[in-house]
Order: sequence, then structure tokens, then C-alpha cells
Amino acid sequence: EKAVKAKMAESEPPPPKGLNWIWRIRAWWVRYPRGLTKEEAHKLALRLYLSGVNFALTEGHRQMLAISPEDYEASVEATRNFVEACHKFGIKVVHHATACFTTEEFIKAHPDWTQRDARTGEICFFPHYGGVWLICLNNPDFRRAYFERMLDFLKRTGCDGIMVDEVEWLPDWFSCGCKFCREKFKRETGLELPTGEDSPVWGNFKDPVWRQFLLFRMRSGGDFYADLKRQVLDKLGRPMAYLGCLAGATGTWGPRWGMSEEQFLRSHNIAFYEAEASGRPFSYFYAWQRHFAEIKYYRGAGRSFGVPVLVLFYPLTFDEARFCWALGVTCGAHIWAYRDPAESGLFDWEMEHEDLFVKPEEVADVALLFSARTRDTYRGYNDEFYVLEWVGWAEALGEANVQFSAVLDRDVERGLDPREFPLLIAPNAACLSEAEIAALRRYVEGGGTFLSTFDFSRYDETGGEREDFALADLVGARYGGEVSGEFAVEGSPLGARLDTYRGPLCIVRPLDGAEVLSWAVDKRGKRFPFVVRHRLGRGASVYIAGKVGLQGCFRGAQRGRPYPRRDHAAAKFLADLTKALVKGRETVKVEGGEGEVLVVVYKQPERGRYVVHLLNVAASRLEPGERVPEESRPVYKRLSGRAVVTLPEPVSHARLVSCDFEGEVPLRAEGRRVEIPLESLRMWAAAIADVGR
Ligand SMILES: [Zn+2]
Repeated sequence: EKAVKAKMAESEPPPPKGLNWIWRIRAWWVRYPRGLTKEEAHKLALRLYLSGVNFALTEGHRQMLAISPEDYEASVEATRNFVEACHKFGIKVVHHATACFTTEEFIKAHPDWTQRDARTGEICFFPHYGGVWLICLNNPDFRRAYFERMLDFLKRTGCDGIMVDEVEWLPDWFSCGCKFCREKFKRETGLELPTGEDSPVWGNFKDPVWRQFLLFRMRSGGDFYADLKRQVLDKLGRPMAYLGCLAGATGTWGPRWGMSEEQFLRSHNIAFYEAEASGRPFSYFYAWQRHFAEIKYYRGAGRSFGVPVLVLFYPLTFDEARFCWALGVTCGAHIWAYRDPAESGLFDWEMEHEDLFVKPEEVADVALLFSARTRDTYRGYNDEFYVLEWVGWAEALGEANVQFSAVLDRDVERGLDPREFPLLIAPNAACLSEAEIAALRRYVEGGGTFLSTFDFSRYDETGGEREDFALADLVGARYGGEVSGEFAVEGSPLGARLDTYRGPLCIVRPLDGAEVLSWAVDKRGKRFPFVVRHRLGRGASVYIAGKVGLQGCFRGAQRGRPYPRRDHAAAKFLADLTKALVKGRETVKVEGGEGEVLVVVYKQPERGRYVVHLLNVAASRLEPGERVPEESRPVYKRLSGRAVVTLPEPVSHARLVSCDFEGEVPLRAEGRRVEIPLESLRMWAAAIADVGR
């Protein structure tokens, strides 16, 4: 302890400026009892400090209302002791509370506060997590009591932030139809929510009332968070970290449970992804692509809203925890440790090199639109309709080390600059607003290259179907129906090859002046335009009539199960087409190491340097049918050869650092190019390249 005090006195941390500390998060959850004394709190905080944790989430005190007055007072006192002890070590404390989960006893005392099945009016119950009862987030009495209690708790404990968990509508998409929700729904949409199990509205995506109800649920979650910020956090007079919990944005469970990151980020200042292992039992190592794609979405949301990304993985072993850490930081996220970092030493290296991880900005020429509007209202909640097409693209680009940023509907609406992103890819972005439509046309006319697929622009922003593509001029064709099956592909658009396409296909009639770059031919020899190119203004647009992302997407490998068959040719087609479309205008490029190393390039403008992350995933691809190991031990192949990274600016010096070796390896830097010998890489490394001649 003396050594710690000496070390702290030596490097007195600068006084906190606003919320700068949320860009340096190393998080862990800390369970402590209601009777926690000051001495015990001190020991706990010292242990956290030594393990590099600077962001402690409280655990064991989630219930704000379903708790006796005595227990509440004891929770306040224990938490105050914990916060005071943590603050002495410069550790921030974020209170982890539940919003809508409650107990049967509490529900019995407050029957009017519950979520109710909109069809039957019955009280909602969720059988998972040991069985929970649910409070309605729109209930005014609940909100008053909850906000008041939260304000009291935060004032008296001195916490530095809150993570409000379980802002969701359960057990299914029929919740909530309580009288307050019905009134709010009518006020906001002018529509009447039906009653009775026989109503044709339920689950019917062709019905605008149903789609509006789904959007209403997500918006209500966002409203709850925004009101909590206004009525609680803004009254504290100190900056507060603010986050919620989401376990999958690039799936359809989020919207099904009424959750949307873009609604959450109306008021949050940290984008949080719970990389859940139970709901989606993917091996983190053998299915790293799936998590990469997911985290890239949060990165895009973080970029759009100007907030950092935090990820919680659930590794089973310390070895796997180390890989998860490396995967997370390679994706530009901060890590919430699941396993005890004091025992695993997970944060030891990061703590010594924390500047490397502060505000990394993605360096990319390619923007990949994630259309939450399409996810939320298009056709139905089936992953194959939209999200897996997007995931397939994100995975394919990641595996080929093509640098890209995910962008949101709102980024497109505001207008993307072709000089920043010369290529914009919008995989099956079906549901577009009028503002997005106008902005996309401007982007192409202004010199951007645009790529879209399948049902692009064929629905309005609320999921209402249009008769034709709203952007037929970008598609270069008119819509004429849909077929599905297996097709031979004729022609290699811009040199990208795909022999067979399997899946749904839009039948399109090319416009005058549009070129058909390749054809899909069915078993009877009937030919359909497959890839169409159309020039518009100073730019060009390429349209693929099928969902090759869906065809090539990796659906994840599960522990102890056979490794799935994967259409690598489809994934390669997407990467090759992307590279061809951006060729000649790229400012960043990675060559070498493809299939062996995940390479992600960041800039830290304030530090005048680039940081290139390299993650060794060479052993993650198995043969189809080969059993994915049950034990969670990532394998790191010895590599040879080199990766050459071309950066947007000339660099003067470059060096490789890693948690796997001491010191640093000097790298060859010439002009804009940095060479990285892959034999230096074990699990993970970062190349630091200083800007300058
Ligand atoms: Zn309700």
C-alpha cells in the first residue's frame, strides 16, 4: 500500500475535466454487501486500483424500488463507502440498476404499474433470468417514484454515473398495452391500438398500426432514458456517465424486445454492447467475425453520436478473456472485464499504455450503412430479411482487411462527403426517409460511388412498401417482382467473380443508359440482370439484385458443435467488388496477412499518429464439419511474411508494441507505407506510426 501511495503522489492525476475519463474505461463489476464498511471498501478499492480498473460498476444493488426502506438505506451507506474509497484511488463508480425488472411481491402491491399484453390485458411475466415481473416504462407513477429514488441515491452516494439496465418490453412484442401506453400511442401516432387476440394487426408487418407500435415501443425506451437524464442526471450538477444495456443490434431480438441503440444514444454517453454468450452461444475465437461485425455497428453509432464504445464479453477462461480483450480493442472498444482482472492481469498492459486506446478514430474510405429503420420495420423479424445481409458485408470486409466505418441513417440524412468516403455501401437498405433519398442522390451526383442491393429504397421509413425503387435512377433499373433459387452468374463485374448465387433475387428492368455488368441465369436458362451500373452526375452507382451478403455471411461457430459450411466465394466476391470500386481513390490500404490477421487502422489526431491493431486469427478457420473445441482456448499460429499498411499521410517512425512481448520492434516506414513482419505477432500487437516526413 505504501508503494501505491508513493506511486500516486509521484503522478498525481490531473483534475477530471468533464467526462474525459469515459475515453479511458477499464471496467469491472464489483459485488459488495449492504453492510460494507469503510475499511472493507478501502481494501476493495485498493485491489481494483492495483488491477488497473478505473471504472467500477456496482453489483448487488440493482433494485431501486422493490426493496425495503431499511435495505435501501443500507445500500446507500454501503455504496457511499465504496464510492468514497474508490475516489481516493481515482476510480469512477457507476451504479448498475434495473429499470423494469421487479418482483412478484412488488407487482402485487402495484398492479397498475405492470406491463400488459396488448391483446389480452394480462400482466406480463418473463420466464428467463429465474422469472421476472415487468413494470411499464410509460407508467407516470412508476416514473415519478423511480426518478425520485434515483436522484436521492445518486445525491447521497456520489456515484459518477449510472447504467440503467432492462429498459425493455417483454416477454414479447405484444407488450405493452396498458392504458398509459395506449394513450401515449394514440397521442403520438393518431392511431388506435386494437384489443383482442383476433385482431389482424398483431404481427402483421403489412399493417401500419403494427409497424408504428413496434417503433413506439423502441421510442418509449428512448423517451424513458431521455426523461431520466433531464429529471435526474441534469439536476446533479456534475458530469455523469450514462449507459444502458443492449445484447445485439445486428439481430432482431433487440427490436423485438423494444430496444434500439439509436434511441438509447439520444441521451447516453457510452454505447454499450453485451456480447452475450447464452442467447448466442458463439465461440468468441472461432466466431470472431460475428462479434467484429456487431462491434463495428456500435463503433459507427459511437462515431455518429461522439461517444465511446464499451463491450462486455463472457469468456470461460483467462486465455479466452485475453483474446476477447484483444478483439475488443482491435475493434476500437473499451473492455468491461467479466473475470476478475486482479487474477487474470487483463488490464496490466493496457494500464501502462493507456494513451494507445484513447479516442481512436477509424481510418476508412468505405462507409457501410446500417439502416436501423430497415431492421425495425421491413417485412418481419427474420434475420435473413435484413440484418444478415449487412453482417455478411461487414464480415467480408473485415476478413479482407478493407477498412470501413459503419454509418447510420442519420449520418446519410445529414449528407456524407464523397471526399471523406468515396464509396458508400448500403446492403438492402430498404426503408429510407425522403431526406435520405435526397441525400443519397446528392452524394452520387457529387462524385460518390454508391453500391446497393436487393430491395434498396423500395420501402418508406416506416416500412410501408413502395411500388418501385424510390431511387430507380441510382439502381439503374425499375422493379418488376422477385424470384428465389439458385442461379449461375455470368460475367465478372469489375473483375469480381461469383459462380453461383443462391437466394432471393429482385427482377429488374434496366433503365436506358444503365449497363448490366453480370447476369443471373436460372436452371431453365432464363437470364436476370444481376449487377447493374448507372452513372449519375459525377458519380456512379452499382446495384446487386440479390443478397450476396446473406449468402456469404458466417453464422457463427458454437463450442462443441461442427464448424459450419461457409460460402467463402461469396464473401470474397463482396470484398473484391468493394476493392475494385474504391481503387485509385483509397487513402488507406492493407496488403498481406489476409485470412490470418485482422488489421484495423485508427488515427489519434491529437497525438499526431496512427495506431494499427493486428489480431492473430489464423487458426480460427476450421474445415466444415470439424468440431469446434469445447474448451475456450484460442490458438495462435506462428506467422511469417508481412503486412504492408498504406496510411493517408507520410510517417516518420513506426514501431510495434504488444502485451505479448517486452519493449518494441522498430518497423520500416517509407512515405505512407509501414511494413509489419508477422513473425513478431503472437496474439495481438499495435503498430504506432508517427506522422511526419
Ligand atoms: Zn404500458
